[in-house]
Amino acid sequence: ALASAVERAEAQRSLNALISLNPLAQEQAQQVAARVEAGESLPLAGVPVVIKDNLNLRGTATTCGSRMLQAYVSPYTATSVQRLLAAGAVVVGKANMDEFAMGSSTETSAFGPTLNPWDTVRVPGGTSGGSAVSVAAGFVPISLGSDTGGSVRQPAAFTGVYGFKPTYGRVSRYGLVAHASSLDQVGPFARSAADLALVMDVIAGHDPLDATSLDAPTGFRDALRAGLPERPLRVGVVTQALEGNTPGVLAALERMRAALAGLGAQVEEVSLPGTEYAVAAYYLISTPEASSNLARYDGMAYGARAAAGDVNASMAAARAAGFGPEVKRRILMGTYALSSGYYDAYYSKAMRVRQLISQEFASAFERFDVLVTPTSPFPAFRFGERSGDPLAMYAADVDTVAISLAGVPALSVPMGTETVDGVALPVGIQLIAPTLHDARLIMLAAALE
Ligand code: GLN
Repeated sequence: ALASAVERAEAQRSLNALISLNPLAQEQAQQVAARVEAGESLPLAGVPVVIKDNLNLRGTATTCGSRMLQAYVSPYTATSVQRLLAAGAVVVGKANMDEFAMGSSTETSAFGPTLNPWDTVRVPGGTSGGSAVSVAAGFVPISLGSDTGGSVRQPAAFTGVYGFKPTYGRVSRYGLVAHASSLDQVGPFARSAADLALVMDVIAGHDPLDATSLDAPTGFRDALRAGLPERPLRVGVVTQALEGNTPGVLAALERMRAALAGLGAQVEEVSLPGTEYAVAAYYLISTPEASSNLARYDGMAYGARAAAGDVNASMAAARAAGFGPEVKRRILMGTYALSSGYYDAYYSKAMRVRQLISQEFASAFERFDVLVTPTSPFPAFRFGERSGDPLAMYAADVDTVAISLAGVPALSVPMGTETVDGVALPVGIQLIAPTLHDARLIMLAAALE
């Protein structure tokens, strides 16, 4: 299984989905074979997987798509990855990504962009573009990404696979390089609901090494076997997400409504007015957290040391050379929003909007079991179409970031295609559940298959 996954990845090298192949893969595969031989029953025995290059795997390079960490070798393994290995998975390689998971297109990687296999002049979405493409192009059945404001869901939508962002705290963040710690969550890509349930059972659950990880039962496969409840599901389509979509995205939303009605669901519309401010609040909360988290890349503790004058000059030189323009922009924006004199106007106000959005979701979930929106207002865009204009790029997150601010789980489900310039491009529709009701989304996805 490992050899053919590597062969598929090599054959489609031009997609630039992987930053590195795992030099320890052969060794891992042999260890799994020995454990199976010894009678162990492993849920992912020998299954090849790809992990985003911001997840640490001991003894491998973890670059975060940045020149800053080009030479960094992980001294330890992330809990989510450790759990995959314990379950018998073999890591084929580390996936390309936007630098430090900042972006929506996988165009900001220091190692070049990842191409969308559906149309190679288009982006795969971001920031987990390499993880999405590894599944969409058939290198591996399962991959891991990270989702701070949509980075699993949006690339899943752009490449026609499932992408799941669990409840905040559901999967340990230990060993995931931090972007915005109050929002970051590890999430899987897969081609079926059954595979999602399998990988979630392996990676979810409490971890003493992550103080924000939740101690709550998982049981995704059990939930899948039990199926949806007998009573009709109450589904709310979020009205704010009905505007600004391409015709193909609206058609996909209609197909989702019809499919849900076909399952006996009662589908209504619901207004969440606070979500109009989600993009602004998200960037005023994520950039301050990022500016704080990225302070460690100073060429001393982490990153390539720059020989230049005194300690301040050396740090400045390391950052100037190591970080790309989007990372620099975010550090400046975040530092500004946190600075005394501006804190109340920006960061503190954004935190109040976050609270409002969380409350709106909570009250909507008193009436609805599941909420629905498109994952993105448009399918995959062309390289360069948004990369020159940060605000146009941030606008691509309009459907995903409110969910991240609220911390609730959401699943992007592939819902057909939209033909653009004669090419069929995948469209994803997002299903959203209340906190810790992650399994409901996977059950629903299975019922819709
Ligand atoms: N596009 C969002 C951002 O750039 C989300 C990124 C992510 O989820 N890592 O911050």
